[in-house]
Amino acid sequence: MQKAKKSVHAHIEVSVVIPVFNEQENIAQLGARLLKIMDGVRKGYEIIFVDDGSRDETPQELRKLFVRRSDVVRVVTFNGNYGQYVAILAGFGYVRGDVVVTLDADLQNPPEEIPNLLKKIDDGYDLVGGYRAKRQDSFFRTYASRTINFIRAKATGLEMKDHGCMLRAYKKFIVDEVVKTRETSTFITALAQKFAGNPIDIPVAHDERAAGGSKYNLYKLIRIAFDLLTGFSLAPLQIFTIIGMVISFLSGVYFFVELFKKVIGHHHGYGLHFAFVFLLLSVIILGVGLLGEYLGRAYFAVCQHPRFVIREVLEKKDE
Ligand code: UDP
Ligand code: MG
Repeated sequence: MQKAKKSVHAHIEVSVVIPVFNEQENIAQLGARLLKIMDGVRKGYEIIFVDDGSRDETPQELRKLFVRRSDVVRVVTFNGNYGQYVAILAGFGYVRGDVVVTLDADLQNPPEEIPNLLKKIDDGYDLVGGYRAKRQDSFFRTYASRTINFIRAKATGLEMKDHGCMLRAYKKFIVDEVVKTRETSTFITALAQKFAGNPIDIPVAHDERAAGGSKYNLYKLIRIAFDLLTGFSLAPLQIFTIIGMVISFLSGVYFFVELFKKVIGHHHGYGLHFAFVFLLLSVIILGVGLLGEYLGRAYFAVCQHPRFVIREVLEKKDE
């Protein structure tokens, strides 16, 4: 005889993806609040934690959670630290739900907001972006994010209120598209926005970090800004080329003006030297710009290497 079905929700409707890096103090509370809220949603669900190479007790904490609720918890563990966005991307590769929700592990994104996101999906939106109406972060962190948001808006031309807020829900097809792209950019939120047909932004609560400090430092933030810029277009390189062209032209004019002055004989000729140096410089800049363009294209074409390496996956085997 067939074994009775364990769960009423055999079909997974919602997959929650959470990147985790050194969050040992937060896992237990996050797990408790998340499980409570998701059990209350009354939909089949799964929670996928992606351990981004944590070096503290995070792996043990995640394992505990998995042992307790292996019916819904899955844990994907990287062999090193690849960054929050790569972790989410990896999680996307495992999702089985019709809707995918992402959030941070530090409880800054209250899990209690998830039903609000899901409600909007039910209303027919295919991407629900949360924006932090009242941000609880340090001045530096908030300001840095604003700057990145500004660059992102310029570089991508995408309308979104707060790409840095990870409390988001996506219909599965968007997530599939994101996984499929071989773009080197790991800027998930902006990438997903590109594929969404009917997105909406809703305000969500933002709490202070439950424990520990931000896992972002200035370097990681700068890396993100560059990822955004170079991942979405070759424009920065092209601007370089254009600057080189403009300087070339101007110094060409300058050169001829100085040459003319010399010929009609009322100058000592230093200007000519300067003009010549500028001309050479501009040729070099132009050359670097051109080189960059080729390199950029080749880079896009060549970057087929794996973006992360998974060491272990904890999940209940299908019976
Ligand atoms: N995170 C990650 N890898 C990293 C940095 C961060 O997986 O290299 C995770 C982190 O554990 C958290 C989320 O990404 O769940 C957001 O990180 P954090 O709270 O430090 O960023 P902030 O709130 O300062 O933007
Ligand atoms: Mg945080």
